[in-house]
Amino acid sequence: MLQAQPYALVQALAALASALAVRVMWRRRRQTPAAGALAVVLAGAAEWSAVLAVGGTLESRSAQTVLACSIFPGVGAIVVGFVCLARGMTDRSWVPAWRREGLLLVEPAAVLVAVASNPWHHAFFRSYAVITDPLLVDPVPGPLFWLHTAYSYVLLAGATALLVRAARRASAAHRRRFLWPVAGAGFPIVGNAIGLFVTHRTGMADLTSVGFVLTALLCGWALRAEALPDVLPVAHRQVLETISDGVLVVDAQRRIVDANPAAEALARRISPGIALPLVGSPLAALAPTLELDPDAASQQLLRVAAAELDLDLRTSPLADDAGRPMGWVLVGRDVTAHLEQQRELERQRHEAVRASAALREHLDLVERLQAELAEQAEHDPLTGLYNRRRLVTALERDVPETLASGRPVSLVMVDADHFKRINDVHGHVVGDAVLQGIADALADAVRSPDLVARFGGEEFVVVLHGCPERTAQRRAEELRERCARVVVTSRSGERVATTVSIGVAALERECATDAGEALLRSADAALYAAKDQGRDRVVVGVRA
Ligand code: GH3
Ligand code: MG
Ligand code: MG
Repeated sequence: MLQAQPYALVQALAALASALAVRVMWRRRRQTPAAGALAVVLAGAAEWSAVLAVGGTLESRSAQTVLACSIFPGVGAIVVGFVCLARGMTDRSWVPAWRREGLLLVEPAAVLVAVASNPWHHAFFRSYAVITDPLLVDPVPGPLFWLHTAYSYVLLAGATALLVRAARRASAAHRRRFLWPVAGAGFPIVGNAIGLFVTHRTGMADLTSVGFVLTALLCGWALRAEALPDVLPVAHRQVLETISDGVLVVDAQRRIVDANPAAEALARRISPGIALPLVGSPLAALAPTLELDPDAASQQLLRVAAAELDLDLRTSPLADDAGRPMGWVLVGRDVTAHLEQQRELERQRHEAVRASAALREHLDLVERLQAELAEQAEHDPLTGLYNRRRLVTALERDVPETLASGRPVSLVMVDADHFKRINDVHGHVVGDAVLQGIADALADAVRSPDLVARFGGEEFVVVLHGCPERTAQRRAEELRERCARVVVTSRSGERVATTVSIGVAALERECATDAGEALLRSADAALYAAKDQGRDRVVVGVRA
């Protein structure tokens, strides 16, 4: 059994604590309307507890009876305040409005009238039971009391449901903010239960108001500790103010309802004469031809030629919870410099591709010229045969190789007879033509790997790989006959021909590196002998 004094002390402390908290919360009502609602709850709980604190110490029955009726303004304030608190915590845009929240005051006012007029109708309290030790008045509830209690619980349950729904929808970080008040709703229930079942007292000995004080203090703590969501709208506004992207919010009638500073700066560039601020103007004043898709987000690149501006514009439709279109958010980014950079990079890439193609062409040309030079370095320009340089390579490299492989090599040296006379009689041009004829005759008779070279002047050399002396002699005869058949017609119509003398040398097995040179010397000696013997003949030389 609770004694009157300690019970009154508990209520007095609860009343004091909540009265202090009312001050703190009421000051914050402008930034956070929910704090104002919480101040109302606290004020109600303070009033209720204060009444019970005083009532529990009174010795007079009639005074207690009057006080028992005085708790109802506090009860009404708690219920109305808790409903507003739930609205304020779950809807950030909520601000109290007399037309809406004023309706909530009707029932508490009716309760006050019913309580005040109870002595005449006894419909709120049937009677006041008296407990004598200590003296406490315990009202016996009537039908209006139960009606009032049911109404209050329905409102409190509705407010709790709002908080639970918000908690379910909230992200994990914000969920606790809604669950603390829900958990706190347990305190008055516990207080009520103690009054009913432990102390067996209601009315002046009820602890429900103390429970409400605890609930309200917990809500206050939740509002302070979990204040993060209140920061977000401020932070969002700050982000909008500072970002360089222009952000416009347009309502369903295509009227600008919000514009950040970057959007205004862009608008000024696009149309310098536009009226600022943009809010309130139709979107058409800024972008007369802009199409807005009501169903889907879109992105487009716009070129505003007059402002020399490239604009990356993203539009997203806005819809309310029921899916009804509310307007659009437009985010515009100045990408002029970015595109210019891209174009410059593209231009440089083209330039590099072109330069690389030109370089490729030059390299091809160099390769072609190198090949031509290599060709010229080995060939005689008049006859197209290999020149002496190539012959020397053949004598130094190929001849020893063939001999080393065990095969014979023969060398045939051909010299036009009395060629000087042809030049003297018919001129150099005819002489050149005769030399070309001899060269063709020799080349036609020889196949790779055998080699024909112009040794110099009117002298030619044929190297026959794998050819023994006797075969070489036969082929030399054949060459001599071919050359003798070469006929050139001079300008005056004369047919000019010549004979050739040939010296032949052969080596069967020779591993010396100067074998080629030895062959050349031996063939030259044989040629000399052929000239000596009267020309137009083949002489096979002895080994040098
Ligand atoms: P031989 O029967 O003793 O060989 O008498 P030859 O007149 O043929 O020999 P010689 O060495 O006295 O003369 C060679 C001539 O070949 C001299 C030169 O004018 C001529 N000759 C050398 N190279 C060329 C050439 O490229 N074109 C022309 N047309 N004549 C050339
Ligand atoms: Mg000669
Ligand atoms: Mg000659």
